[in-house]
Amino acid sequence: MTEIFKNYIAGQWVEGTSVNENVNPSDTKDIVGRYARASKAQAEEAIAAAKAAFPAWSRTTPQERYEILKKASDEILARKDELGRLLAREEGKTLAEGVGEAMRAGQVFAFFAGECLRLNGEVVNSIRPGVGIEVTREAVGVVGIITPWNFPIAIPAWKIAPALAYGNTVVFKSADLVPGCAWALVDVLVRAGLPAGVLNLVMGRGADVGQTMLEHKDISAISFTGSVPTGRKVAAACVASTPMKKVQLELGGKNPLVVLDDADLKTAVECAVNGAFFSTGQRCTASSRLIVTAGIHDAFVAAMTERLKGLTVDDALKAGTHIGPVVDQGQLDTDLKYIAIGKDEGATLAWGGELLNRETPGFYLQPALFTGVTNSMRIAREEIFGPVGTVIKVKDYDEALAVANDTDFGLSSGICTTSLKYATHFKRNSEAGMAMVNLPTAGVDYHVPFGGRKGSSYGPREQGAYAREFYTVVKTAYTFAG
Ligand code: NAD
Repeated sequence: MTEIFKNYIAGQWVEGTSVNENVNPSDTKDIVGRYARASKAQAEEAIAAAKAAFPAWSRTTPQERYEILKKASDEILARKDELGRLLAREEGKTLAEGVGEAMRAGQVFAFFAGECLRLNGEVVNSIRPGVGIEVTREAVGVVGIITPWNFPIAIPAWKIAPALAYGNTVVFKSADLVPGCAWALVDVLVRAGLPAGVLNLVMGRGADVGQTMLEHKDISAISFTGSVPTGRKVAAACVASTPMKKVQLELGGKNPLVVLDDADLKTAVECAVNGAFFSTGQRCTASSRLIVTAGIHDAFVAAMTERLKGLTVDDALKAGTHIGPVVDQGQLDTDLKYIAIGKDEGATLAWGGELLNRETPGFYLQPALFTGVTNSMRIAREEIFGPVGTVIKVKDYDEALAVANDTDFGLSSGICTTSLKYATHFKRNSEAGMAMVNLPTAGVDYHVPFGGRKGSSYGPREQGAYAREFYTVVKTAYTFAG
């Protein structure tokens, strides 16, 4: 019997109550590994361990925390090829995308190692004579971290790194589909020298382990990334619990990429193909709505179709693969359902959308491009989370902006144009958390804020120095010195 990768609770690797077989979506005969699923009771033990570890960890010096996070960063970067391969094998991103994501996780830990040393406060003059005021930031307490499957190492990294940097202890629940990267990341951090209880891994299901975290009185804050329906439940539970928990949600998207008549066609096509279809379209920042003005529309669709014909959909680990498989049967069913809905709604399937057979059994789907889409169609309004792009034809910039903003989401947005006037106007008037000019809507830096508006995000931003807003609490101290 092969090894079972265990949960990590109170400084010990512990068995679970059932085994999760981690299936390779490029080859469903390939089991990436067997991972122990944690129980509700184990989630409670993890929370107790994190609570017990908090007083000492929150009082460690910035130098102590820096050294552990920096060591973790160094190991992740040194092992990026191996970790990237594991990621591609369990999630289905291409090897290049997997290695890039592993590298990102290493960079994030290096950034937050530095943040340990940069955390500062303010000294403010009082309005009262003889009184001094200090505004300082303190750790929040035990932070529960709940992550989705589509960025199996980067999202855990950009939540765990700031949580630890600012002195919090952590209970981390990874997504059931991708326990491999979660386990590998925790293993690196443990060996980097984290004291027992500071970081706990519970690889259970959302409905039991996740729910336990949401309801437990000893968790002070929850950072969640996932879908809107789950996010709503998370926020409601955090507010309903006593004491109330701080909560941060990063949710779905239906991100617009506007292409104007004056755009450089090649740039526009590259932005659209990358944004809509790379990582199999399974990105919260995917450009799932391509809003194209009438003058360039036909040339854009023709160039997109040509470009899509040249892309290879195959095993994520094979050299030459541009697009890996869909993550699992459930997501594939969703993608196919929406392709059928698009046809029923009267959109034209200009290219793709067919299931593909490859050497190994996997969830291979040709990227699908719909034209003749209106912004009221379900394929333009609901997050599909697969390789499905929709082209919405508009008459001019004003209509393009109105359509771009006419959505329940607001994570990322983009415009392809050579006009400074339109680029500037779009950056100022896009109702999204992130606005890109001549760049794909997906693909961000790690040292600046990440997050959205409307239904895409709730609570403070993630990443960069802005992460401190969520992972610390502010104290205002007054002293009368006579
Ligand atoms: P999901 O909502 O199904 O699950 C997310 C996590 O929540 C998983 O770990 C799951 O086990 C857990 N969960 C489920 N029910 C729970 C409950 N009752 N209590 C506590 N936890 C529970 O999302 P998913 O399918 O894993 O991920 C895809 C979604 O994530 C998409 O909507 C995508 O847009 C979004 N996403 C957003 C961002 C962002 O930063 N905005 C980034 C990546 C993915």
